[in-house]
Amino acid sequence: MPKDAALAGLTVLERGWLSSNNVLLHGHDGEAAVLVDSGHVAHAALTVALVGQALGALGGAALGGVVNTHLHSDHCGGNAALQRAFGCRITIPPGLWQAALDWDTQALGYAPAGHDCERFTPDAKLAPGEHIEIGGRRWQALAAPGHDPHSLILFDAHHGVVISADALWENGFGVVFPELDGEAGFEDVACALDLIGSLDARWAIPGHGAPFGDVAGALQRARRRLDGFVTSPEKHHRHAAKVMIKYRLLEVQRSSWPELLGWLGTASLVQGIWQRLGRPCVSLDGFAEQMVGELAATGALRMDAGQIYNA
Ligand SMILES: [Zn+2]
Repeated sequence: MPKDAALAGLTVLERGWLSSNNVLLHGHDGEAAVLVDSGHVAHAALTVALVGQALGALGGAALGGVVNTHLHSDHCGGNAALQRAFGCRITIPPGLWQAALDWDTQALGYAPAGHDCERFTPDAKLAPGEHIEIGGRRWQALAAPGHDPHSLILFDAHHGVVISADALWENGFGVVFPELDGEAGFEDVACALDLIGSLDARWAIPGHGAPFGDVAGALQRARRRLDGFVTSPEKHHRHAAKVMIKYRLLEVQRSSWPELLGWLGTASLVQGIWQRLGRPCVSLDGFAEQMVGELAATGALRMDAGQIYNA
């Protein structure tokens, strides 16, 4: 983690792509810490261990709460395990409150995406405009739709730090999920990037990847990427299909073709992408083969003896 006074009082557990980063906001003088985002269910035990270690390094601080920027399975999959381990409260953006209470996996997006997530029960909402105060810092929640219609980012104006979730990474941003359902999302992405630009943040802590200080450079790259998607939405959709397949392989590590095609049969979102692209390759299976082939060509997957491996 970079050494900078603006980042003091924060522990960033940088995780990878299957699990989002976990950002521990330290408390002051016995105040309990708060964790932003909890990773994927497949890594839940590791998340509990890493958070336990980080709390230990703070002299045995308690974990008072988990706040989710959004409810994608790589950001809230550790909620239930953390709640069991630390008895913490779970705070979520208001948009999917009822869906989370009812564990409506269709509305939450887990069923259409074919994603796993352990059920948890939220305790509180954090709405755009509201604040969390902890460790002498004040984090304002701001709406950053685009990647996810309900996503929040958190901004500490005094220290110039933004927790940018999947709205802005050092190189790009998350798949624009509404576009895969035929809803407009690119304009929201542009607005979210403008919002982040208007904050004049000195540091961004993204949902995936290391914290970075060149926020202006990241915004420039993100806008260029977005322009490419707006000009040719099919570029975005093909990218999204590959992201979904890679994510699946990250979850299961290896898969036979029948297993992968069986999963595709349940992931209506990928089928929707194929439909939206005008059914390239005639069959969904052929499309999957093409996407896997492209992923293998870039080294993101490996194929061997009828098996597909995460690489
Ligand atoms: Zn996400």
